[in-house]
Amino acid sequence: DLSGQVAVVTGSTSGIGQALAEGLAGCGAHIVLNGLGDRDEIEALRAGLERDHGVTALYHDADMLVPDEIEDLIASTVKRFGRLDILINNAGVQHVARVEEMPAGKWDQIIAINLTSAFHTIRHAVPVMREAGRGRIVNIASAHGHAASPFKSAYVAAKHGLIGLTKTVALEVAEANITVNAISPGYVKTRLVENQIEDTAKARGISREEVVRDVMLHAQPTKKFVTEDELLGALLYLVSDQGASTHGSAILVEGGWMAQ
Ligand code: NAD
Repeated sequence: DLSGQVAVVTGSTSGIGQALAEGLAGCGAHIVLNGLGDRDEIEALRAGLERDHGVTALYHDADMLVPDEIEDLIASTVKRFGRLDILINNAGVQHVARVEEMPAGKWDQIIAINLTSAFHTIRHAVPVMREAGRGRIVNIASAHGHAASPFKSAYVAAKHGLIGLTKTVALEVAEANITVNAISPGYVKTRLVENQIEDTAKARGISREEVVRDVMLHAQPTKKFVTEDELLGALLYLVSDQGASTHGSAILVEGGWMAQ
């Protein structure tokens, strides 16, 4: 039961972030949504959380490329609710290309959104959590935070970095009853994955069907996509009181990919 707690979920206007925000609202947490997208669709999502779960849901449009806007996301949350219990760093983007064809601007963008934005949310959230004497920070990393695949240099570098950030901050805040952990999903069938099927097909010179079967699900012994609900299970453990001794870990929810 997370009644009365306040959760910020970056990149929660679609995919995994949206599912995690809905799951937290289902446990009674007030939610601050964030992410890009159509304003009417986002408003429908926000209003739906309030209607379905009886919580307060706000939307903040901070661009994870802009440090001042990220600062305002955390500051406005604390101003509105007077607390911040759960921070989920989930916003992420992908670009699939050989390293020599990776546009330098894409590299910068992926590092900024997938890694640096978490540094900014965390540095503003930690003082609030310290003051409260409790906090939970969960970074959505990836199986690509543990192992590489070709053509994903920026993404793999960012996700490895995010796990490094997770461990470092976990050490710094452990005595303050704040936990910092990562969840490392395998392939989940969200828009991010749908988009890269085409790009991977081009990069490898194979069909879309072959990408799904021979590249994506090939890596996962289960031969199944991971579901958002399975990620929610890991998240609810990490944010619970039973998660109090788990610091700086990355929970693999990747269909056995890393066991190979
Ligand atoms: P998605 O594209 O469905 O969602 C990404 C979210 O990030 C969206 O809400 C989008 O608006 C937001 N976002 C993108 N750029 C932003 C910016 N500049 N500022 C603010 N928000 C921004 O993708 P997803 O698959 O749900 O991915 C969510 C997270 O999960 C990412 O960090 C991704 O790397 C990670 N992940 C996904 C998979 C997968 O298979 N789908 C696997 C491992 C890890």
